Amino acid sequence: MSKLAFALTAPELGRWRAGNTDTEGVWHFDSGLPGRKVMVSALVHGNELCGAWALKELLDAGVRPESGSLTLAFCNLEAFDRFDVDDHDASRFTDEDMNRQWIPERLAEASTRERRRAGALAPFVNSADWLLDLHSMHEPGLPLCLAGTHRRNLDLARQLRAPLHVVVDAGHQDGVRMRDFGKFGMPDEDQPDTRSLLIECGFHGATASLDVARDQCARFLVEAGTVTASSAHRSMPRWKQPDAIEQWALYVTGAVVAKSERFFFTRQVDGLEVIALAGTVVGDNDGEPVQTPYDDCVLVMPSTRQARAGVTVVRFARRELLV
Ligand SMILES: [Zn+2]
Repeated sequence: MSKLAFALTAPELGRWRAGNTDTEGVWHFDSGLPGRKVMVSALVHGNELCGAWALKELLDAGVRPESGSLTLAFCNLEAFDRFDVDDHDASRFTDEDMNRQWIPERLAEASTRERRRAGALAPFVNSADWLLDLHSMHEPGLPLCLAGTHRRNLDLARQLRAPLHVVVDAGHQDGVRMRDFGKFGMPDEDQPDTRSLLIECGFHGATASLDVARDQCARFLVEAGTVTASSAHRSMPRWKQPDAIEQWALYVTGAVVAKSERFFFTRQVDGLEVIALAGTVVGDNDGEPVQTPYDDCVLVMPSTRQARAGVTVVRFARRELLV
């Protein structure tokens, strides 16, 4: 497998590692005024550095909520501690993927480091009204907002006016993501005031991913009312990038789950590529051809870097312009 240039360095968290709560890596600031309880999280995957940089910079800049509260969380510190630029995928997690453990049974079980850590983070996620979870991707590609299947989050992605592509998907077969945890996974009519977005900022090692993480933080904190646009302009200068010229919703209709680590793509595939014809073979799943199910099918995040039985290697999506 080709090796991708890794330009982003691991941030030295220094004094920001401790947090100011009883949970390492978690910072909580309360304005003392009414307003949304907002949480921004990073390092759910230990090798996804752009979000950690953005949080560190928010702390360095002394950003504080002007209404409601703000929680900043460096999530999988144990995996992050193992980060090695020459083997960066190895620090995605220590025992298992932290972003698949967000169901009460798994959180209560505490049988792995990720479940224990997710269990410690869960009260903070639970008490947030709005959640922005910063991630990055195995492969180079345009940033993606993962909005889940509920309309309220798609509407928020539209209000934020970036990025260009918003993925509407139900997550993964092998577990529940933090952004779908508890109330965030409930229907709009039951949870009209909560929002959660996961941002895939770009390739793990690209400095451009940090630009996206900063941009999304600035947009999210202003939209939430945590800070005003003018104070964001002062404390986060040049973080906000130009709005996307348009926004596409990508409705994920299905995921290809690898049967084994022998899954491979039978052609060059690019993230967000639109495959014109239904029935085009794009992969081989342990001997079984993988075909696109309909015309103009979008390939969302194709990657074999983590391929093994039960892992999603590509998602198929229909696209629709957001207006
Ligand atoms: Zn991630």
